[in-house]
Amino acid sequence: MVVVVVVVVAGAVVEVASGAAAPASSSDPPHAAATRAIAALANAIRDSGDMRRDGNWARALARYTRQMPIVVQKYGGTSVADAERIRAVAARAVATQKSGNSVVVVVSAMGKSTDELITLASEVTPNSHPREMDMLLTAGERISMALLAMAIEDHGIGSMSLTGSQAGILTTVEHGHAEIIGIRGDRVREGLGEGKVVIVAGFQGFSPETRDVTTLGRGGSDATAVALAATLQADVCEIYTDVDGVFTADPRVVPGARKLDEISFEEMLELAAAGAGVLMARSVEFGRRYNIPIHVRSSFHGGVGTWVKEETMEEAIIRGVAHDVSEAKVTVHGVPDSPGLAARLFEPLAEAGLSVDMIVQNVSREGVTDISFTVARSQLNTAETVAKLAAEAIGAAGVDVDHNIAKISLVGAGMKDELGIAGKMFRILSDHGVNIEMISTSPIRISCVVRGDDVAAAVQGLHDGFALGEES
Ligand code: ASP
Ligand code: MG
Repeated sequence: MVVVVVVVVAGAVVEVASGAAAPASSSDPPHAAATRAIAALANAIRDSGDMRRDGNWARALARYTRQMPIVVQKYGGTSVADAERIRAVAARAVATQKSGNSVVVVVSAMGKSTDELITLASEVTPNSHPREMDMLLTAGERISMALLAMAIEDHGIGSMSLTGSQAGILTTVEHGHAEIIGIRGDRVREGLGEGKVVIVAGFQGFSPETRDVTTLGRGGSDATAVALAATLQADVCEIYTDVDGVFTADPRVVPGARKLDEISFEEMLELAAAGAGVLMARSVEFGRRYNIPIHVRSSFHGGVGTWVKEETMEEAIIRGVAHDVSEAKVTVHGVPDSPGLAARLFEPLAEAGLSVDMIVQNVSREGVTDISFTVARSQLNTAETVAKLAAEAIGAAGVDVDHNIAKISLVGAGMKDELGIAGKMFRILSDHGVNIEMISTSPIRISCVVRGDDVAAAVQGLHDGFALGEES
């Protein structure tokens, strides 16, 4: 192990050893000089900004010993929506390279083109064709990556666009929601080695098992970017978007929402899962697992956005409030209250590929109870059909669906050490005439399902009630 490190960083060791470590003498035991050099290198890395930045030794070593920092930049659909914006992205990537970085750019499809392709497919066929759908949707990112490479080359800088499979992004087989299982990245490294700005299509990969092209789910370019940053041991992953960063609430709903300077991975994960659309939840998981600092910032100006990282300077009791109007509620009435029936209801839902979010079971009266759960509204038809079959099989009275719900979530890492947050949340909602239909919690989140029409009142009320607009 020790010897390997010496080989990898030989250049730096010589430099550090000659400056900081005492010269080897002939009476030294065989590895003493190497051990001293490594200790000196370790000290130098620790004292460098690299180590202080995030405390990760492996990445600090990689950064300290390589020639140039590596920056991964991801641009969302609005940032590459037309020719002019693509040229602006090219200018930014070129400027980043000229200021002394190796630059990898991950792009989304232009504007709303993914939505347009989905609509087009639904006009051609009412059936689902998972393999061909992925083939179709991956075309969106191909367009933006090629155009961006052209715009960069016009600056006289070498550039190369790569599809997900060319970049070696290996995924599981599930079309439409595949997961990244590994990244080869040889061609990305080769391109960087040749001084090129390398562009990688977001949202797509390749399943080694089926040899087919796959997609990672909506918003999946964020996951591509952070996973690539982890593979390349990048210094930072920048997510460029059409907002200035992560806010205390959706600024479209709460005009006084405040941009956060920083937020922990843990909190961002909860906010993303609770409906904050600014980052895909899975990308935050990658960031946390490999400790890649993520900088969410605007593609329209150079201002600092929000840093998502391991630890924040201040632990806020409440960091923000998120809302999600994409779910619907299913209620199964008159479920006999006996062991195994909940399993017989939820197992078929899972088998049908449905992901259930909140679940509430009422206290039973006279041997029967109600069970409600929420699912993505896009999956409501399947959920209703499966729940009706299961309800019949277990002798339940019937199934109701409710389209008009919203989930409101309060998130903050300091919540776990603070009493009374739930009580205060429920009081604020009631003061605003908002009725709570379901509740679920994690150590750092409280979520309530409310009427869909109450979203604005609930989010605004909580934002004011917890004074989230004020600098803490
Ligand atoms: N183009 C894909 C989508 O619209 C992926 C992405 O933008 O991240 O979901
Ligand atoms: Mg996005």
